Amino acid sequence: MHDLIPEQPWAGDVMDVVPRCPRCRSAQIETRNLGRKYGGAIGAIAGTTSGVTLALSGAEVGFVGGPIGALMGAAAGVVIDGIVAGAAGCAAGSKLGAAIDQNILDNYRCRACGHTFGDTSP
Ligand SMILES: [Zn+2]
Repeated sequence: MHDLIPEQPWAGDVMDVVPRCPRCRSAQIETRNLGRKYGGAIGAIAGTTSGVTLALSGAEVGFVGGPIGALMGAAAGVVIDGIVAGAAGCAAGSKLGAAIDQNILDNYRCRACGHTFGDTSP
């Protein structure tokens, strides 16, 4: 059974489609992905920080249950929340960065002539 795909036979690997330089028509284009790189890093830092902050405020609540419980809860909470929030933040940041790459930055650079251009450039 084959699904009929009337158009866009390359739809399976859209991400691999390399645009051509609008100036010299060269296909030797490199992507810069600046937003994705920095977005992921910033998102990871922001997520980890907020995760740790949440975990610490949780530890304060846990203190009512006893100092040992608070200590154990805080240690586990900081590590787990930090990792989870950091990963979530990194993913969110990468997504945001990718959107910035596609919409704002000149994400592509021509190796032939050095021209930089974005996805939406004519
Ligand atoms: Zn070029």
